Amino acid sequence: MRPEPALSNAAPAGSAPGHALGLLRMIHRIRASGSVMGLLMLASHLHGAGHGALVWTLLALHFLLYPHLVHAWAIRSANPGRAGLHIFLLDAALLGLWSAWLGYPLWISFTFFLCNVVSVMLYHGLRGTLLAAALFIVPGTAWLQLSGAPLNPHTSALTTGLSMVGLTVFLLLVSRMTLQRNVKLRETREALRHSKHALHGANDALRLQLAEIHILQARLSEQANRDPLTGLYNRRYLDSTLERELARCQREDQPLSLMLIDLDHFKRINDTAGHQAGDEVLRQLADLLASHARLGDVACRYGGEEFLLLLPGMPLEVAQERAERWRQDFAATTIAFGELTLRATLSVGIAGYPVHGSQAPLLIRNADHALYRAKAEGRNRVVVYDPQRTVAENRP
Ligand code: GH3
Ligand code: MG
Ligand code: MG
Repeated sequence: MRPEPALSNAAPAGSAPGHALGLLRMIHRIRASGSVMGLLMLASHLHGAGHGALVWTLLALHFLLYPHLVHAWAIRSANPGRAGLHIFLLDAALLGLWSAWLGYPLWISFTFFLCNVVSVMLYHGLRGTLLAAALFIVPGTAWLQLSGAPLNPHTSALTTGLSMVGLTVFLLLVSRMTLQRNVKLRETREALRHSKHALHGANDALRLQLAEIHILQARLSEQANRDPLTGLYNRRYLDSTLERELARCQREDQPLSLMLIDLDHFKRINDTAGHQAGDEVLRQLADLLASHARLGDVACRYGGEEFLLLLPGMPLEVAQERAERWRQDFAATTIAFGELTLRATLSVGIAGYPVHGSQAPLLIRNADHALYRAKAEGRNRVVVYDPQRTVAENRP
């Protein structure tokens, strides 16, 4: 008898060689011990029937040597999975021949047949099983027909008992291995589910980190565009924005005003009240400008105590009106700094698109000319650029 294992994974041709080898080794262990059982069954049946040395030698060779030889061949084969199937088919033919030669003793034949086809079914599916069944039946039956040997279905009580034990052991092994296979499958599935959960967790964490990185990046680029003292945009940002805003206004046929604001006699504040006080004045002016800026206006610190306001869509007249109001507001503002109360005024030069040009550098230059005039005319005032009045003027 050949009790074959009900292993968890069949090794069909083409499966991973490492896996197929492991399977072959397991099958071999069970085939070798099952062969001893088969040998006992046949020996008990043949005992006392007067068979010669040839029969006993063949019996020993088949049930004691053959399992090890075929195993050695199979594990060296290029395709161990396919080799495993071929061994099962060879088993079927040889066991069929033994059964036929003995005249198909019922218990022995049935045990051999069942163990073989069940094993093939477990590892190689229905096609392999049908082939094994055919190989068990056809060659043996053909030999029986040709030799004219009689049928002899009877087995002794001992042989019947050994067959029953062999069959029972085989079926128990099959059941145990099927159970082990199910347990292993369940464990694998559970482990997979855990890995999937862990993977999802890692994914979520990664997504969170990515979002944090994006926020940090946005914060960094925002910081790179801001002046640290006043919080207004810096000149770097203005350079990247002015051309774009100007192009947009040109496209949409909208005006654009530029205000250049400079604190009057700011140096004096620094000199008399200290640099820190000067900083506070700069912050106060920045707050005033930021609080009055509309959505879309760009208020930036253009230089030391100079500010530039970019006002898309705002005509010159409106810009002048606003600048005047802010100038008055700021002049009326008192800035507390420790014990001191500070006051300051500002001068504003305004230029606008399309009246004073359509290029960013030209507009800034014209606003600067207007600012220079505001200073020259006595400071604390707003001046709109006038091309007629700039010919002889130069900044000091
Ligand atoms: P004007 O009315 O002609 O503009 O006179 P002004 O004194 O304001 O102009 P000036 O260009 O002579 O001086 C500007 C001063 O602004 C000099 C510089 O020390 C000061 N300043 C520039 N940046 C800062 C700053 O970040 N903080 C402080 N406290 N002072 C600054
Ligand atoms: Mg100044
Ligand atoms: Mg200045």
